[in-house]
Amino acid sequence: MRLTLPVPVVAAMLVAACAQDQPSARSARHEPSISISASGPLEPKPPRAPASYNSVNTSRPVVALTFDDGPHPELTPQLLDILRLNGIRATFYVIGRNVETYPEIARRIVSEGHEIANHTWSHPALTSVGASRLSQEIEKTSASIQRVTGRRPTNMRPPYGAINDRVRQAIFRDHGLDVIMWSCDPLDWKRPGAEVVRQRLVNGATPGGILLAHDIHPGTIEAIPGAIRDLKAKGYGFATVSQLLALKEDAAPPSVPAPVVPTQAAVR
Ligand code: ZN
Repeated sequence: MRLTLPVPVVAAMLVAACAQDQPSARSARHEPSISISASGPLEPKPPRAPASYNSVNTSRPVVALTFDDGPHPELTPQLLDILRLNGIRATFYVIGRNVETYPEIARRIVSEGHEIANHTWSHPALTSVGASRLSQEIEKTSASIQRVTGRRPTNMRPPYGAINDRVRQAIFRDHGLDVIMWSCDPLDWKRPGAEVVRQRLVNGATPGGILLAHDIHPGTIEAIPGAIRDLKAKGYGFATVSQLLALKEDAAPPSVPAPVVPTQAAVR
């Protein structure tokens, strides 16, 4: 008799102690399933262990393109056209109230094979809101995404990268979501121009890297075709965040720079 079981996760209980900027221990949910021969009683399913990531430890030349703050009525469809033309899947950290306003774009994101994930309902710095508001921001968004697209997000990105232990533990414990930061920030929200954004994305790519961008700035959309072309030329492939997490290898992850957390009220 053959059964398919998740790979047991030994280090799952260590996850809660992980520091903010350290990609953390193995997460049960993202481990590939393996087929084993069952000779005894079925093993219990390992506890679910959400974790925080800046990048994913893998030697494979794969990056995740991620786009925050949409859906945007004009720019997100343009970006989707570019991604489709290049045969690339990305991850969209959408704002809940934008999903409500542009549900057809949220559905297109999912129908074209991209990952849709939670970027809160109204984009507050979660470190500045209380427990009740925090929970509402996350749950209302996940519920909206699920209602509109049929998919429930498995990870989230905190607006402004604003995170602390209280927020992280609430997201893990109360919502079961991974917290996804980034390893490369081109600062496209400062609108430095498409060429600069392209260069920063290409130069900042590393195996397992998570590249941050925003599909609400025209210069970002303009930068993406060249960035994809150059990353492909460097040998990189592209994955959604969940696909990237499935490539995670066991060794200690490489150190990555801490995300830049703006002190001013810049929208990003
Ligand atoms: Zn944002």
